Amino acid sequence: MSTVIISVKDLHKKYGSFEAVKGISFEVYQGEIFGLLGPNGAGKSTTLEIIETLREKTSGEVWVNGFNLDKDPDEIKKVIGVQLQTTGFYPSLNLVELIELFEGLYNQKVNHKELLRLVNLEDKAKNKFKELSGGQKQRFSIATTLINTPVIIFLDEPTTGLDPQARRNLWDLVRNIRDKGTTVIITTHYMDEAEYLCDRVAIIDSGKIIAMNSPDKLIDELVATGFERPKEVKQANLEDVFISLTGHALRDE
Ligand code: ADP
Repeated sequence: MSTVIISVKDLHKKYGSFEAVKGISFEVYQGEIFGLLGPNGAGKSTTLEIIETLREKTSGEVWVNGFNLDKDPDEIKKVIGVQLQTTGFYPSLNLVELIELFEGLYNQKVNHKELLRLVNLEDKAKNKFKELSGGQKQRFSIATTLINTPVIIFLDEPTTGLDPQARRNLWDLVRNIRDKGTTVIITTHYMDEAEYLCDRVAIIDSGKIIAMNSPDKLIDELVATGFERPKEVKQANLEDVFISLTGHALRDE
């Protein structure tokens, strides 16, 4: 039996008269990578930010690691790691200085070397944030979510704008973090990302969850309805060609 670490019940969010989240319910299990999957404007970020205690909900119930969002938001803040947009980092500080800033914020110490090694940025310790590539910036921002040794991390579209190699590196990193025991909740509008990375996904459209299961089961359910792709699918796609030609190795160094 899986342990529930996040529970969302009948969550609603209105911006004025516009209802962005229309009564969604889901549970996230400890140790899984759970995806909120949906098109732009579906309500993914709104949902995530409510759970992160960063946005007010209109109604509904949210529990995180046994704490109720209305009663114990500060307890929730202590056990979660939230990814900042890369524009949120001081560009002229180096990576160690930025980590120290977060350490001060969380009143926690981490092993700088170990943290940077985890995200493959050990040799960039003295580089300024602005000197990093897009993929490196994203990896660093994921590293900073781990500074307060959270039980859950929240990643909001972490691979948007990255090239295929940087995306695959980031997927490996996220799996690695999960394998070390951290629960991951991630939003994405990339289907391949959700299929590769997520143990379970909730598909959100116009503020409602329209399906929830493992990617495999969702695909099986569709196939069981008699669905067939209109034409034979090739064994590889252009992205595979690109990766095969240019290699899987970290290239955004
Ligand atoms: P997603 O993350 O799936 O792209 P969002 O949660 O960002 O979706 O947005 C859901 C809907 O709510 C969108 O229609 C968006 O325009 C609207 N919205 C988001 N934030 C605000 C806000 N602060 N004020 C008004 N409308 C907002």
